[in-house]
Formats: sequence, structure tokens, C-alpha cells
Amino acid sequence: MARTHILGFPRIGAKRELKFAQEAFWRGEIDEAALRHVAAQLRTTHWQRQADAGVDMAAAGDFAYYDQMLGMSVLLGALPARFGFDARHLTLAQYYELARGNASQPAMEMTKWFDTNYHYLVPELSQDSRFDGGASWFYDEIDQALQQGRTIKPVLIGPITWLWLSKSHQPGFDRLTLLPALAQAYRDILAQLRKRGIEWVQMDEPALCLDLDDRWLDACDSAYAALAECGVKLLLATYFDSAADHAGRAAALPVHGFHIDLVRAPSQLDAWLRVLPAQAVLSAGVIDGRNVWRADLRAILATLAPSHQALGDRLWLAPSCSLLHVPVSLEPETRLDPEIRGWLSFATEKLEELRVLAVALNQGEEAVADALAASDAAQARRRSSRRVVNEQVRRRAATVTPAMAQRRSPFAHRIAVQHEALKLPPLPTTTIGSFPQTAEIRQVRAAYKRGELGALEYLQRIRAEIETTVRRQEALGLDVLVHGEAERNDMVEYFGEQLCGYAFTESGWVQSYGSRCVKPPLIYGDVYRPEPMTVDTARYAQSLTERPMKGMLTGPVTMLQWSFVRDDQPRADTALQLALAIRDEVADLERAGIRVIQIDEPALREGLPLRRGDWNAYLEWAVRAFRIAASVVRDDTQIHTHMCYAEFNDILPSIAALDADVITIETSRSAMELLEGFGAFDYPNDIGPGVYDIHSPRVPTVDAMCRLLTRACQVIAPERLWVNPDCGLKTRGWAETEAALANMVEAAHQLRASLAAEGANALRATAAQVPGDPHPTIRSACGCATH
Ligand code: GLN
Ligand code: ZN
Repeated sequence: MARTHILGFPRIGAKRELKFAQEAFWRGEIDEAALRHVAAQLRTTHWQRQADAGVDMAAAGDFAYYDQMLGMSVLLGALPARFGFDARHLTLAQYYELARGNASQPAMEMTKWFDTNYHYLVPELSQDSRFDGGASWFYDEIDQALQQGRTIKPVLIGPITWLWLSKSHQPGFDRLTLLPALAQAYRDILAQLRKRGIEWVQMDEPALCLDLDDRWLDACDSAYAALAECGVKLLLATYFDSAADHAGRAAALPVHGFHIDLVRAPSQLDAWLRVLPAQAVLSAGVIDGRNVWRADLRAILATLAPSHQALGDRLWLAPSCSLLHVPVSLEPETRLDPEIRGWLSFATEKLEELRVLAVALNQGEEAVADALAASDAAQARRRSSRRVVNEQVRRRAATVTPAMAQRRSPFAHRIAVQHEALKLPPLPTTTIGSFPQTAEIRQVRAAYKRGELGALEYLQRIRAEIETTVRRQEALGLDVLVHGEAERNDMVEYFGEQLCGYAFTESGWVQSYGSRCVKPPLIYGDVYRPEPMTVDTARYAQSLTERPMKGMLTGPVTMLQWSFVRDDQPRADTALQLALAIRDEVADLERAGIRVIQIDEPALREGLPLRRGDWNAYLEWAVRAFRIAASVVRDDTQIHTHMCYAEFNDILPSIAALDADVITIETSRSAMELLEGFGAFDYPNDIGPGVYDIHSPRVPTVDAMCRLLTRACQVIAPERLWVNPDCGLKTRGWAETEAALANMVEAAHQLRASLAAEGANALRATAAQVPGDPHPTIRSACGCATH
């Protein structure tokens, strides 16, 4: 019998129950016991769903009060010493202080989990790190499931992945020296599970899909050697890409099975079949855990048939990865177009798909003939739907020429005519786009959406907000203004709603970090722009002021990256369609007299494949998409782009290849590192390194910003430099925003004065004496689009 299992279930709850309980706990409205109660109920519900679908081994230990990596750190007892917490007696309040910071300590660093939009908390290690075990929450979960009589497979983040994703701020310290102690801690955990009669344990090792050098591969050997004969069977789980390169080595590890992602990397199946030891299980990840489309069950059965024949009941069936990355259930989606709804499958529906596959394999396809026929029909309907294909869009995409991805003149010429046209001072000041989204403005949008506010009144309210925002910027003395994005709930949804080929769910929430969730739109068909999207707003905003007003658009790669994307054509093709739609908008903005247009691409980096060998192919189409969107304008129209919250230094050539006239970029995490990268690479165009962190209500001093700018002058020619915050200001209040921007403008003025008095060289010399940041800053998520 081919067994079924899942790698994990979304923990947030179909109605985001965990989010609301967490937030109530943070506000002090409920106590720890009440929060635990909500968590236990959610787990029961999720196990029941798995049982209802006949999943043979339910996932346990996949729950987390905030994040599974932090959960693993707690279980190991490996908490950052700077908090001074006793891991064994950790309270939930302290756990959340680790995740969110407290009065004396900044939060643990947070960053993206592989190529997903989920963020984990980075373990902080030093030579003094110990793994003596921590709070018993993980075992409590296991015991809860066992008390309910469930057959479970506990889930742990494996030692290699946990260690790989950790960081140490100790110079020269080699984290791998911690491995023996770490492996011992895992042994202890597995012993606890054996005591409870657990048969299988899933060890998540997605790091095995990365480029690992020999040191790390050796570490993997020795870690798992240390876990041999631990009394439970280990399923080594890889996902998000192929682990075929390491299959031979992995097959020699003393583990009992391997899970592989056959959605992302179907071709790795053969490599694994060749090396799979005689007794070992192969778990085939065949249901897409990263996307929302109904599986083609018949096609999956066809690819599995030979493996099933070869392996018999050593073949297991599973989704490709944890279902954490898809919404919980289609059930509440009553307003979704029924045709499109019929093409979808969220976590709960994926469990059912898994059941059908298992029955078909175990009992023959006749046993699930109806379900297979329904799957076939859904596939056929989607393939032939008129909603999917738009001939005009396809013809246009097919005739894109290289010239369309090329500005008319090189940057040196463009910037000269732009200076002429825009007449900006040196070190021009600007902001990233959004201004505070007050409760009032959010209410106005919500009322309009509910139909309680008429179109005309809504327009007037938004325009009033834009006018105030413009006046405040003028009063502050900013040079290039923005309209403030009051009409936007989310930088992707706002455009998606105006494009054809996009659909929206009501409750399709996916955890992004902690209590924050996103509701990614669905791109189901060819994308096009039926009419201008931002032109009226931009024209109105520009009419209010003599200063240049930036048009504000979301770029094609970010539109793609923060949506669930159709899987029936290459992502590059969808990116191109998005690029053409945005290109038309750019052209219309220019025609409406907008002289500066920003195309945001904060998600450019996160689309990078796991393997470096695949980077170029991605970067090539991603950069081309941006250039097609941007290159339609005249030389004197200035194109800006913006990026934030990612590691940019290793893709600087591609960032330069975007050929935006100006890039504004977040630097709060590590100003020095980023600037050094840009300096060493000799970034050719204008650049605005963020001079203050927008995640904090703290008002930065003029001095602090002057220091940063002076330092920037060291590596970037002052003529190339802009002055701006790190990111959009939508999450801030007006009082702190105005105070911070006033200081920012003052800092720019002071620097302009010293530039005029002493020249660029003098600035460079003083910069050399400016000390670096006293301590590392936090790399946190851009919370703009989360709820
Ligand atoms: N223009 C957007 C804003 O200011 C950019 C947001 C982002 O980078 N995520 O809100
Ligand atoms: Zn940003």
C-alpha cells in the first residue's frame, strides 16, 4: 500500500484564528493559557482534516506560535544569549520578545525562507551556543496528537538546514564546529520521540537543494551518522528544487526514506530511483504545495506507475512541500468566479487529491473513477477556457523586439537632459511612495468597497488626502513628490484588480511572518490592461504642484512574485505580459505630463532559483521584463526603481542592467555592506540609499542621517546620490513621519552646503573617519502588504 502523508499544514487557521489570538495576547487581552487553547484547537482541526482525507500519517510538530525555525531553536535550547532567557522555562511572552524585540533587545533577524514569501527567524549562534534543550512545547504537541489516537509523523527542521540558515556575528567563528553538540541534541529529541512509540520522523532538509560545498556535505554525513540507531525511522525531506546532485551521498546516510519535490524538479525521480537503497522509502512530492491549481491526477498517476511497480509500498505520496504556502480551504470562496474556482485546490482540497491518488494506486483507477473523471474535466475546461487565452496579447508578446527593452540613449546622455528638465538640486530628496495610511483613509477605502460610499464621494476623499499629502511634502521642502498611495490597499492587489487575467480570493490567506498574512491574487489567464490605471490620479497630483510628481507603479517581477501564478506557461511568459501592460501605463503617464516614473521591484531578488546555476536564466527574463516596462519613455523622463529587504550585493550586475535612472534602496540592515557592494561594483546610475529605517517610529537625528550620507559619498559620487527613506511610509503615523522627513531634508541641506563649500573630495576625506554602525541592524520583512 502506497502510504500518504503531508509535510505540514497551514497553522494560521481558516479564519486566521492564530493571528487574532496572537495579537490579542500581545495586547494583553488574553493570557498564555487562552492562546495555548486556541493553538490546541487549531491542531485538532488540522489533524481531523487529514484524518477525513484518509492521510495515513498526520504531520505533527508542524505547528508554531510564530515560526517553525524559532520553534526548532526553542526545542534545541539555542536562544540568542543577549536576551538572557532560560530556554527550558521560556514563556510565550518571552518567545514573542525573541521574535519581535523588547525594550532592551532588537528582535532576532528575520529573512525569507528559501524562495518563498514566508519569513523565518534566523538562529543566532556563537562559540558559546549550547543545545541543552528548551521548553517542551514540541512534545506537548506530539502528546496531544497521541492522546487523540492519531497516527503521526513528527516534523523537525533537520540539523543541516537549521545550521545552514543560522548566523553568527562573531568574526571568524565557524558554525560547523557546533555540529557534534547539535547532533547530540537531535539524538536526545529523537530518543524522546522513540519513548513515545513514534515510528517515523520527518527531517526537513531543504538545504540539500542548494549548492552545498564539501564541508557542508561532510557535515551532513556526520550529523546523520550520529543519528543512526536512534530507534526511530528518519524521512529526509527535501523540497523547493532538485536534490539529485546529492542523491548518491544522501542514499548512503543511515536514514530510512527520502522525500523529493517532483513538482519543482520532476526529472530528479530517475536519479533517486537509481540510488535508492533496497529497504528505503521514496516519498514522491507530487501535489504542488506552492501553488493553488488543481492537480492533473491522471498525469501524476502515469508518471508514478513505473515507480509504484518498482517500489510497491515503499512508494509514499505527498504534497511537494509543506502546505504552509497555500491557503487553508476553498470553502469560503463563494464570490470567486465559479469557473475559476473549479480550477483551484487549496490545502484541504489537496488532501483530497492525495487520497484519490493513493486509492488509484492501491486499488486501481476504477475505485476512484468519478474523482479522476472530474479531475480530467477540470483540466480540459481550464485548457480550453476562453478566459485563459487572449490572442491579441499573445500576438503582441510574440513581436517584442530588442529595441523595446532599450532606452533611446545611454544613461550619461539621459541624466544630462533630465537635469536640464527637472532642475533638481544636488542630493535631491524624495520618498518611496506611500504616506501614512491612517485609520480614516482605510475606513474610506473599506466603505467604498462595501458600497457604502459612492464613487464620487470616494474620489473626493482620496483627492483631499492626496492634496494634504502634497502640501505637507511641499512644506517639508522635498524635491520630488509622490501622491502618497492613499487609494492602494496593497501594491500588487491594486494593479491586479485593474488588469485582466487576475482573480482575487476572499479568504486565501497565507502566513508571511508571525501573525502577518498575505492574500496573493491569482493570475489565471493572459494579462492585459483594459484601460489606464493610475493616470488620472497622477495627473491630479501633478496639477497640485510645480515640483515633479512621481508616477508610482509596481513592476512586472513583483506583480508575478507576490501572486499565485498560472502553471500552464513559463513564468517568463507571464512576466512579459505584465511588462507590456505596465509599459502601456508608463507611456500614458508620460503623455499625461508625468516626468518621473517609479517602477517598484522589491521582489526581484526573491524570485532567484535555489541553484546558482539557474540564476542567469531567471535574471535574464526578469531584467528584460523590467526594461520592457520602462524603456518606452523619452530621454528626459526619469525612471526610478525601488528595492528593499533582501541581499542585493550578489545580483548587482542585474540591478545595474535594469538601467533605471535612479534606484532607491533600503539600507537599514547593514548600510556599510550594501554601500560597499555598490561602491565596489561601481554602480553606474543614480542611487538613493535609504537614510532611515521606516520600521521604527523613532525619529532619526539630522546627525545620524548626515553620517550615513557622508559615508555614502565615500563610495558613490555625490552627483549620483539621492536622499530618501528606506521604504514606503504607509505603516507610520504622520507626526513621526513629518519629524523624520524634516530632519532628512535638513541633513540633505547640510550636506549640500558642505559640498558647495568644500567639494566632493573633502566629503570623501571626512567620510573615511566616520565609524561604522555600533551593532548589526535587523533585516525585517517589508510589512506593507501584510494583514
Ligand atoms: N511604493 C511602495 C510604497 O512606498 C513600495 C513598497 C515596497 O517596497 N514594498 O509603499
Ligand atoms: Zn520597499
